[in-house]
Amino acid sequence: MKITGDQQLIKKMNKSIVLDTIRQRQPLSRADIAAGIGLNKATVSSLVSELINSNLVTEIGPGESSGGRKPTLLLFNKSAGFAIGVDIRVSDLLAVLVDLEGNVIREKSVPLSDFSPEIVLDQIRKTISLLSRKLPESPYGIIGIGIGVPGLVDEKSNVVSAPNLGWEHVDLAGALAGDLGDNIHIDNEANAGAIGEKLYGAGRDSLNLIYLSIGVGIGSGIIVGGALYRGTSNFSGEVGHMTVAENGPLCRCGNRGCWETLASEKALLDRAAAIWPGDDAPDLEDFLKAAKQGDEEAVNLLNEIGSQLGVGLANLVNILNPELIVIGNRLSLAGELFEDAMLRTIKSRSLSYHRKKTHVDFAKLGIRSTALGAASMPITTFLTDPDINI
Ligand SMILES: [Zn+2]
Repeated sequence: MKITGDQQLIKKMNKSIVLDTIRQRQPLSRADIAAGIGLNKATVSSLVSELINSNLVTEIGPGESSGGRKPTLLLFNKSAGFAIGVDIRVSDLLAVLVDLEGNVIREKSVPLSDFSPEIVLDQIRKTISLLSRKLPESPYGIIGIGIGVPGLVDEKSNVVSAPNLGWEHVDLAGALAGDLGDNIHIDNEANAGAIGEKLYGAGRDSLNLIYLSIGVGIGSGIIVGGALYRGTSNFSGEVGHMTVAENGPLCRCGNRGCWETLASEKALLDRAAAIWPGDDAPDLEDFLKAAKQGDEEAVNLLNEIGSQLGVGLANLVNILNPELIVIGNRLSLAGELFEDAMLRTIKSRSLSYHRKKTHVDFAKLGIRSTALGAASMPITTFLTDPDINI
């Protein structure tokens, strides 16, 4: 019998659903899968056999019997291949090598002093090569690469603008394709961070969440109904440029009073430099050390930054009514020092019905949210691309 295009598509979709079910609920039997997704047992068995042949699923010893023969249990083969995630930060590159469940196998951080695209690309290639050396045996090896960039990335993966790197229209994926295959994903760093926390971190159980990346600027990744909200041109989430003070400080975007001019790491350090003039500009680590030792001015400044963060977050709570807000990136290192002021302001400025079910948490993946989210992108493509699976 000839299989039609539609039937092939349905089979591919079913196989992807079976694999997804095994990943989410492992270990489980073929009968558990059939009951869980409503396909008949013969179809499930045939699809499972294909997944075993392609090394994505393995069998383990028998599970509990509900009467008859004990069923064989199935596991997702997380070591069938590896992915690499890269976070291009302004001070350095952070790269991770992960298995197909996002567990970090190796990690490397490389300082960046020159941001020209050629130099950064060269560093990315060298770092990937280092991480890929002497990999454990696996049927697929490196299945793809994801990169988080501090800037705007369009729907074709072009970096349209990354002001802190001085980049305009850089085709990062195009430059890396070839030697490194074509499963290459480029995304905004906050989007990647949101996906990282959703899949592996604080947001695992939340369908509606905002990941707030507070570093030099403020960006966000917004997850609605379990999926990233990308906007019309892939540029959603630039919450740092929300106006919160009509005649506030001038922002790098040209506007005045953007949220990030009042509540980012840069806002904090600019104000710290004004408090302690003359010395070398304090870095975040020095500043936090002073605050932890009880320096009154440092503590007061962190409280003010916390309040300013709360102002913007109250707006986001009212607009999006999220279940969870995850505070990530560099300023989350100071979380305990501004948390009270931030929460107080959210409480006093947001609408009570909107904030009732909203929780605020700090990134569980620490500074790896973006690198891990970036690594998850090629993994998702790999596991849903039936041509690779077969
Ligand atoms: Zn701005």
